[in-house]
Amino acid sequence: MEKSDIASCLSWAKTILCESESPALDAELLLAKALDKNRTYLFTWPEKLLGNSEFALFKQFVERRLHGEPIAYIVGEQGFWTLTLKVNASTLIPRPETELLVELALDLLANKAAQILDLGTGTGAIALALASENPTFSVLGLDCIPEAVQLATENQQQCGITNAAFELSHWFSVLDDQARDGDDRRRFDLIVSNPPYIDSSDPHLSLGDVRFEPKSALVADQEGLADIQLIANQAHHYLLDGGWLMFEHGYDQGESARKILTALGYQRVETFQDVGDRDRVTRGQWFAG
Ligand code: GLN
Repeated sequence: MEKSDIASCLSWAKTILCESESPALDAELLLAKALDKNRTYLFTWPEKLLGNSEFALFKQFVERRLHGEPIAYIVGEQGFWTLTLKVNASTLIPRPETELLVELALDLLANKAAQILDLGTGTGAIALALASENPTFSVLGLDCIPEAVQLATENQQQCGITNAAFELSHWFSVLDDQARDGDDRRRFDLIVSNPPYIDSSDPHLSLGDVRFEPKSALVADQEGLADIQLIANQAHHYLLDGGWLMFEHGYDQGESARKILTALGYQRVETFQDVGDRDRVTRGQWFAG
């Protein structure tokens, strides 16, 4: 491919990215990124010639995509809810399915001021989406990967959100430490999580974008249920009376998720389906005593 104009570059990339599920969109996102413009610009100026460095960058991006790297990692960002979030290889790429968790959380909390905890926050997607919707929410996002905490904090600053904070913690460890140090135990109206829930033998792990994402964000023991179990075991120590635990899980884990919550004494346990009508989110409410 010789250096050329916008329209020809797009049609070249579209052709060679034919194995992608969305070759035209991929080509547009990569070219817009290489030119540091939005996609509308590409259609407004189809005859504009690329500069040398723009063209070199675009070719490099197409090459990376050809090797299967997710678009979000190449362009360094992903839309989630109403936000544009920075992403990198230290975290999962936020998924549209996860917006169900955000919707359900907002319904549950109505408009009351609430303390919210997001476990395994990654880019901060869920925490920031919730914080952005209600300035009276106070949201804490925890992650055990320092790069993720850094990224979530950058996203918070970039989105201009002031009612969310991020800390390094292996699940509840930072809260356990505070409770041991004699500080008043911090309690929440809602604990949310999109934990790792894929079984290590799941063949989907060798397909598409997930090949490039951190295994620690995807895979859990006990057929993918180990982290869900751990979160459910501990969450009630940190819930206010009548507080809710709500988490995302695999399409075939709804029944197991409900069993885990019910066995621990959570009440009003219920599973919700995503737009594809697959079980996706389960929640339960905790009453003290
Ligand atoms: N909470 C983040 C998200 O929903 C990361 C989840 C994860 O890494 N399992 O995108």
